[in-house]
Amino acid sequence: MTHILLIEDEPLISAFVAKGLKAAGFGCSVEATGESGLYVARTSVVDLIVLDVGLPDISGFDLLERLRGEGVTIPVIILTARSSAQDTVAGLVSGADDYMSKPFSFDELLARIRLRLRGARADTPSTLSHGDITLNLLTRRVTIDGREDDLSAREFALLETFLRHPDQVLSREQLLSTVWGFDFDPGSNIVDVYVRYLRRKIGADRLKTVRNMGYRLVGLS
Ligand code: CA
Repeated sequence: MTHILLIEDEPLISAFVAKGLKAAGFGCSVEATGESGLYVARTSVVDLIVLDVGLPDISGFDLLERLRGEGVTIPVIILTARSSAQDTVAGLVSGADDYMSKPFSFDELLARIRLRLRGARADTPSTLSHGDITLNLLTRRVTIDGREDDLSAREFALLETFLRHPDQVLSREQLLSTVWGFDFDPGSNIVDVYVRYLRRKIGADRLKTVRNMGYRLVGLS
């Protein structure tokens, strides 16, 4: 599922946009402050950010500059109540991919989100590899040490998530929100169940348990 992070402090706008995005088949999480938005952008797997400029703590522009400064390249669409050309320039300079002035129509926002997601994917390769693991994103088959295997839809999504974050420890919460959606019961042990399934296919030594933290994909050569 494609996840959109909406950083917006006006509850009416965020509720309206989140509802529309969910209806359009996206996963959507909402943060109402700059700092919490920054935290989620850094720690979750997010495909695109819709970012309000006027936030109660740090401005959307500052948030964006910090993210880009850390090398985060997720597409960002800025929402600005101010429609001055100066603001637009500031947004694009700090690394936004697009912007919309309030008030905006949801359909137009959706069209721009889809456009930016396509742009981000245009240069995405059709395989992801780490060590001797190769995942074909088109056929959804995994090759381990030259041996090919089929994956279920959830196993595929789980392995894809690990391959996009090689050698990084991913927590159960991160995996749950990325693979199963943000609304899934956080007390569920479904992540552990699917990690077991995946280990049977790729080998237990390639998917390490990091105590009290989560799991880490290790590439073997
Ligand atoms: Ca605002």
